[in-house]
Amino acid sequence: MDAVYLNPRYLENVVSCPVCERAESSVAYGVTGHVKVMRCACGVFYCDNRLTEEGLAIYWKDYLDNEHNADDAERALRRRMYLVDFDYIARFLRDTSKILDVGCADGLFLDLFAARGHVCGGVEFGHSAARAAAQKYPVWEGYFPDLDIPPDHDLIIFRGVLQYLQKPRLFFQKAVSLLRRGGLIFITAQPNMDSYCHRLYQNKFRFRLTPCDCVGFSPKSLSGEFALLRCSLVGEQFFYEETPYANPEEDIAAVHKALQCGRAGGAVMETSPPFWGNMMTLVFRKQ
Ligand SMILES: [Zn+2]
Repeated sequence: MDAVYLNPRYLENVVSCPVCERAESSVAYGVTGHVKVMRCACGVFYCDNRLTEEGLAIYWKDYLDNEHNADDAERALRRRMYLVDFDYIARFLRDTSKILDVGCADGLFLDLFAARGHVCGGVEFGHSAARAAAQKYPVWEGYFPDLDIPPDHDLIIFRGVLQYLQKPRLFFQKAVSLLRRGGLIFITAQPNMDSYCHRLYQNKFRFRLTPCDCVGFSPKSLSGEFALLRCSLVGEQFFYEETPYANPEEDIAAVHKALQCGRAGGAVMETSPPFWGNMMTLVFRKQ
């Protein structure tokens, strides 16, 4: 997959912030070659190169097999993480909620909701993933902002997807338009660009931006975006110790080593470990 998103043939320049569209960004740090990460005045980080339509089509065509399900161990950890996320959002839900998972992959996260009697549907851009999920749930395949989906949902999920969006506001507007009043947006498994590790490790942050994972948010930047759509923040969590990825003693030691390296004027060479604050979970309610 590296070959696709670092091949200049499939890249195009990004000249303004993909969220607020202002062109007043500063360079945060380099990624590789001429590819850089920019920081916009709105608080959003973005990559100054992104995949072209052709590159996106290649990347997403078979991502379910090539990336999402490529490693059995990783897949098992992700399933445990689904339970952490589900236990958190479940307390916000009323019985028989109508739920839409945007970027539902093969529908495994939705399975947890369906097992509790909620009514589930999915949206998926990747064809093989959409086909897998469609065996269990109604699935709308394609580009979410363009899809014709019935409204009045109680919950719309973005789990680990916002970093891929080239035009995030179209997704946010579409999601809010599909919610009933009082309905919820659930954003989780989302890298937090205000995290300590992103500040310390920058290009070596384990969820660093690339031309594929091309945009990065923080609780503040997302709260600002959803406030524009009359949605308020009603839940905020930063899962770490309760996740299957945490190993506090080793992770603290790794961060300490990177900190010392930085203080001595050296460049951090290792990828950041799982750590407090790396990932954010946010819930917004439509007024
Ligand atoms: Zn911006």
